Amino acid sequence: RSVAVVLGTRPELVKLTELIRLLGPAAHVVHTGQHYDEELSGRFLAEFGIPEPTRLTGVGGQPRAVQISAALGQLDAVFRAGPTRAVVVQGDTNAALAGALAANARALPLVHVEAGLRSHDRNMPEEHNRVLIDRLADVLCAATPQNRDNLRAEGVPADRIAVTGNTVVEAVHRQLPSASARLAQLARRGLTADGFVLATVHRPENTDDPAALRAVLGELAALAAETPVVLPLHPRTRARAEAAGLTDLLAPLRVTRPLGYRDFLALARHAALLVSDSGGVQEEVTVLGRPLVVVRNSTERPEALGDFATLVAPGPALGRAARERLARGAADRARLAALPSPFGDGRASHRIAGLLTGLVAERTAPYAA
Ligand code: UDP
Repeated sequence: RSVAVVLGTRPELVKLTELIRLLGPAAHVVHTGQHYDEELSGRFLAEFGIPEPTRLTGVGGQPRAVQISAALGQLDAVFRAGPTRAVVVQGDTNAALAGALAANARALPLVHVEAGLRSHDRNMPEEHNRVLIDRLADVLCAATPQNRDNLRAEGVPADRIAVTGNTVVEAVHRQLPSASARLAQLARRGLTADGFVLATVHRPENTDDPAALRAVLGELAALAAETPVVLPLHPRTRARAEAAGLTDLLAPLRVTRPLGYRDFLALARHAALLVSDSGGVQEEVTVLGRPLVVVRNSTERPEALGDFATLVAPGPALGRAARERLARGAADRARLAALPSPFGDGRASHRIAGLLTGLVAERTAPYAA
């Protein structure tokens, strides 16, 4: 178990599963507990068959600085005890930053999966996390050429960067249920293919400001008068909607609990349109060939904009963009289904596993401990 894979949230489980599988017994999964609850973590470990991870304590639900510092000390103990020879982190979470700092403190080679994303929006903690992780990483796995160019523009040497594609592409390929299983699930939920909108909302910029949350839920509620809107409700969004007295806006929506990954993909594959502020969903729609309205002030994934996705701020622009996109209909979806994903070819995890094998064999530490 020489490669520590440090993760803590739902999207990291989605995007690291294939790499963990390829690493086999070499992988030591360390879960910081940023999300430990069943809906956002436990069921994904089971669904993906990830071996029982080493679990840290005292992280979930804490302020950002406490999450990072609580994880850091425990990660140091894990790295000190184990035969760890390299550390892998993914994306831009507090778990990933803690993993990067702990690797650096122990002079362990650090591999950053999904390096080089930039929103250039300094209001987002994720932007600070990704910049810091990229400064520390020894191997930067850029998903796209644009991600590589972002890193080069910041002075990262070319020999530290590999353009690998995004591991989400193979996650979708591997986890998407069969057509018959998907259609059975739609039928169970009283939905028809291409006859509904699938929405997710959980980013603080949409949930923590009651005016923004009212705007987003209000636009979705108005849209639901025309087309069914399915909303797997993130626990944070539910709590904020209740606190802000906005639950009446949920009534016209088909609210569900957060879905398992396969169930989510089954619905996403047949949604006429997705509306989301999620990072991963911006990538997944390009594999599934579905249109998306991104509800955010900025995005670090411009590759999806244009053909697949439209970026709108919370407010009336959301409803306008959704109706405009829905009106384009089946021809639009057929066109998207024929386009390649800008996020990769489904081999990213293989490439990263190969890089790790070389790294562990060489045992190249950035400096002597
Ligand atoms: N997802 C899921 N069930 C849901 C909603 C989302 O499995 O009910 C998946 C989604 O397909 C994507 C990931 O969760 O792969 C995204 O997680 P999230 O939006 O929490 O994080 P982000 O990608 O924005 O960092």
